[in-house]
Amino acid sequence: MRKVEMTCIVCPISCHLEITLDEDDNIIEVTGHTCPRGDVYARKELTNPTRMLTSTVRIGGAMYDRLPVITSADIPKGKMFDVMKEIAKISVEAPITNNQVIIENVCDLGVDIVASRTMERSN
Ligand code: SF4
Repeated sequence: MRKVEMTCIVCPISCHLEITLDEDDNIIEVTGHTCPRGDVYARKELTNPTRMLTSTVRIGGAMYDRLPVITSADIPKGKMFDVMKEIAKISVEAPITNNQVIIENVCDLGVDIVASRTMERSN
């Protein structure tokens, strides 16, 4: 039996979680969470950790030269660099609207890369 400690990052309270695992690394107990989301977070973090990814892509014809983008859902942490490589290849042209799909089904993850703001054409 062993214990793992982590901080819940689901909300700003940042509860200190303690997870007890058996010899086969099965989760026996999660403690320290103030709400059920902490329990869910700890179990997911130990089995399939995922994150939202934010970044920017090149944009032409807008008042800025980078467009902020975000994944439409969590992606596996292990796929972050693959997704960043795909994002780095992309260039778009204004106008772009908030939530517009920039890359569909990136890396076959079933998740899109979408614009996280509107950018009008500036000329
Ligand atoms: S356990 Fe609940 S209250 Fe605590 S940080 Fe996570 S989401 Fe927030």
